[in-house]
This record gives sequence, structure tokens and C-alpha cells, in this order.
Amino acid sequence: MVYVTGFRCFKCGKHHTPDEIENKPIPRCSNCNSGLDAEYDYDSIRKSLLTDSFIRGTPSHWKYWPFLPVHDLSKIITMQEGGTPLLENNSLTRDIGCKRLLIKYEAMNPTGSFKDRGSSLEITKAIEYGKKKVVLASTGNMGASIAAYAAFAGLDCLVFVPNIVGQAKIKQIRAYGAKIRFVDDDYSETMKQAEEYVINHSDSFLTGDYPWRGEGTKSAGFEIADQLYWNVPDIVIAPIGNGTLMWGIFEAFIDMHTVGIIDCIPVIIGVQVDGCRPVVDAWESKEKVIVPVDDPRTIATAIACGDPIDGLGALRALKETNGMAVSVSDEEVLDARDFMGKHGIFVEPSGAVAYAGARRITERFDKKVVVCMGTGHGLKDMYGIKEHT
Ligand SMILES: *Cc1c(COP(=O)(O)O)cnc(C)c1O
Repeated sequence: MVYVTGFRCFKCGKHHTPDEIENKPIPRCSNCNSGLDAEYDYDSIRKSLLTDSFIRGTPSHWKYWPFLPVHDLSKIITMQEGGTPLLENNSLTRDIGCKRLLIKYEAMNPTGSFKDRGSSLEITKAIEYGKKKVVLASTGNMGASIAAYAAFAGLDCLVFVPNIVGQAKIKQIRAYGAKIRFVDDDYSETMKQAEEYVINHSDSFLTGDYPWRGEGTKSAGFEIADQLYWNVPDIVIAPIGNGTLMWGIFEAFIDMHTVGIIDCIPVIIGVQVDGCRPVVDAWESKEKVIVPVDDPRTIATAIACGDPIDGLGALRALKETNGMAVSVSDEEVLDARDFMGKHGIFVEPSGAVAYAGARRITERFDKKVVVCMGTGHGLKDMYGIKEHT
């Protein structure tokens, strides 16, 4: 049974049938070229889902399959992504000054970041369409993740990488046997080149922050509520690169609320870095558009997305949940990374961005249950770790 009923455009609201979207090389709105949001038959999901075995079952990515647009569950490509821990540490809770502070430790995914959630769904779709090759633009982690899942499924993989990506992450892509094409420009230009490639090569399947990835990323949000026994935390804090993670988490809470498993939506807070803060700028100036940042520079390379594709989605999540956006300096990010590491939770710099943001706005946290996304493993990028302590 497939519960997806269509895809609606973020910007102009145009509705597309699943068929219309599934046959496009670049799944975007046919009217205005913006991002798309999947819609589901929530009544049917409600009837089949709200069972004891679902409510009590162990949290894992594919547990939430009714909210994912796949046709044949017997053909999914999975490497046991998701089901990542919600870590609670007293020193971190005291540092932030809230009631409970939980780190959703996405480092525990097969390739060390939450990207594996989206990759599992995307590679499943590529196989569904009978494609032989997947293509994407990546700042590193998505490249490694797709490279792994493609290799696992027996597909070729070509990754376009911008000039900001470090050697360690390039090796993580190569380790899975993917081909790399270097683009001496920023991420946004790199994405354009990946899209052009797919338009000219019909045997290839475009992965990246398009609707499939957004839908796959939702499981991070489902798991948070599930792990709290279907209680909703007061606040969820996430970094914003392309905005896909934040949008996915928001959508997950909306999905759960719509079918009635939860009774409210958390406040969502987004964090960017000073060197690349287009969503924070839009938030602070109350603009409805996002002005791209040229050539972003930051040590948090996984979120150096100057023209975030799901930026409008992220902005909507902040507005509709009464949230906010803040930015932090590279130095604060490294401090947060070091502090978390010293309490046993090792994340890469981008993985500490949400925590660094939390430290900035502790006045909002009195007696609150706060979840911070720890998005990627510390081993992925060890920039700035001191040789002597
Ligand atoms: C991709 C990534 C992000 C940013 O997520 P978006 O969905 O692009 O907003 C943050 N941290 C890490 C470790 C990532 O890999």
C-alpha cells in the first residue's frame, strides 16, 4: 500500500501527481521550479498505523514507512540507518540550564551522519526506476552516504564536489568506490553542474535535497517523539545547511500531529554560522525570500550552502512553531564540539552547531525539554582538535 497522494510546490502551491514527479529528471515544480512537499492519505494511514505494535515497536527509519513514498517494501535498500540514540548527559544539561537536554546522536548512522536516512529512500527510488547510476552534488557527507548506499545496491555513483570540501571527506567518498568530479566553485554552482549532467544522461538518477531526500529525512523527527514515548519535546534545535533536515523534522511532527499520535508540535530553532547565514538574515529582516550568500567560508563545511534549496521550508518551520534563527561563530562551533567531546559525545564541527546555538539562547530554556541534533560523527572531520591538552 502506498499512501502518497501527490506533491505540492512550496512556493506557488501547484499540485503534482506522483506520476508527474516520478518521471522528471529534476523533481521540482513544473510551474515555478521550486521545491516540492509530498502529501499523504492521512485517513488511511491513521486506520492502519495506530496499533499497539506500531506504538511500542523499536524506533528505526523504516518503521515509519507509511509516511515514505515507496511502492514496494520488499525492494527497499537499507543498511539499518536511523534508530540513533537520544543521549542525555547531566553536564550538558547543566551547561545549557534546561530541564532535560537530549542529543540526537546521528553519528550512529552507517556512514556517520543523518544523510543515510535520505539516502536509503533515494537509492530505493533509483532502483524502483531501474536506473544504473546516481549523481549528486555534495559538501562531503551526502556524497559519502550516497556513495555507500549506491555501492551497496550495485549502482555506479558520480559525486560533484565544490572547492570547500576537505581531503578527509573526499576520501570517505572514494572509500565507497564513487567517482568524483571537482568543481572549482561553491556548492550552488556545483549543484547546477550535477543537474545539467542528469539532464544530459537519462540513465542516471539525481540525488540530493529533492523531495525523496526530504521525505527520508523525516524519520529523525518521528524517532524523537517515539523515543520519548510519543511525548513531544518543548524545543528541537537543528543546524541549517540546505534546510532539508529542519524541514524534514518539522514535516515529521506535522505528519504525526495530523494522524493524532502526538498532541502538539515543538518549537523549532535553526542555527547557522556567521560565514553562511542566509536563513538567519531572512529571519531577522522578516523577509519572505532568501538572499543567497556568495562563496560561503566556514569550518562547518557541511552547512556551507549559500543558496539553501529548502531554505523556505526551514523558514516556514521556524515561523509556524514560534521558533527562531541564530548564528554562531566558527570559534563557538569548535568550543561546542570540544565541550561535547569532553563529555563523551564526539561530533564534527557541523554536528556541534545546534549545541553552539543552544548556548547562545539559554534564557529560552527554563524548565524545558530540549533536543539538539548532533548531525555527524566527530571522526568525519577532526579540524582544530588540539595536539596537546
Ligand atoms: C548535511 C549536514 C547538515 C546540514 O543539513 P541540511 O539538511 O543541509 O540543512 C548538518 N550537519 C551535518 C553533519 C551534515 O552532514
